Amino acid sequence: MAETRLGPGREFDAIRALVARWGARARGIGDDAAVLDVPDGEQLVVSTDVSVEHVHFRREWLTAGEIGWRATVAAASDLAAMAATPIGILTALTVPPSWRGELPAIGVGIGEAAERVGAAIVGGDLSDGDVLSLAVTVLGCSRRPLRRSGAKPGDALWVTGAFGGPGRAVRDWLALRTPLAEASLRFARPSARIAHARWLAERGATACIDISDGLVADLGHLAAASEVRVEVALDALPCVADVSRLDAAVSGEEYELAVTAPADLDVGAFELAFGIPLTRLGVVTAGDPGVAVTLEGSRVELTGGYDHFSL
Ligand SMILES: [Mg+2]
Repeated sequence: MAETRLGPGREFDAIRALVARWGARARGIGDDAAVLDVPDGEQLVVSTDVSVEHVHFRREWLTAGEIGWRATVAAASDLAAMAATPIGILTALTVPPSWRGELPAIGVGIGEAAERVGAAIVGGDLSDGDVLSLAVTVLGCSRRPLRRSGAKPGDALWVTGAFGGPGRAVRDWLALRTPLAEASLRFARPSARIAHARWLAERGATACIDISDGLVADLGHLAAASEVRVEVALDALPCVADVSRLDAAVSGEEYELAVTAPADLDVGAFELAFGIPLTRLGVVTAGDPGVAVTLEGSRVELTGGYDHFSL
């Protein structure tokens, strides 16, 4: 795709610098809109996600590169949840004067994340504003997008990875403690489980959601969409060091996947392929729609999960 030359001005100088830094990872930037090919027989899958200073992160918690990485991966995680393959990323950045010097480093983080998820950066916007905000739109394609609504009674419930790191890191930072590196890395450098989701979709996964609000809260969304009951036993939930299962179950911004699928998934093959756990946590039933959670055989009520408009 041919590049289009950008006109003069400081904003365009900043865009030029970002595009230069992204190198081959930036594609077709400079026209009014991006033009992308979608493979025959596949559907376009699109999602957008915003990361706002003071809401999603604080300056003292993350490097500028981590801010760019995290915002991009968070957006790409929604494509993973749909078992879609990322093809393009657009980044609309609001950058206050106090952050302007960090823009190149934020761009590096965005570029690294784009590289990791295998998508080109195909456009975006830059604006002045009061707080740093990164709005990242991701475009992907899929032959058979995996939805939240496909869970069926008789399916098993599975999760990827280990939980609790981001919740623990934020709690420590808010209490002015230094989190363990494992927890802070899970917040600062999350992964989008893209290949993992495709692997699961190819092996009969029926529904999927990525964990952004917290495991139990997000399972509630899946249960509502599928009109099923999800019965979860937290005993087997893998947790990062020094985090309880109850805390892990409400930790947000994990970007792990919860998937419903046949009970005979080949866990060994998954773990060999990806080097992270795939854990069976429960079952899907035809009972009252919702989530029922137990720990050590006792029912637990977990209210939690992040609701931006709850305050
Ligand atoms: Mg999501």
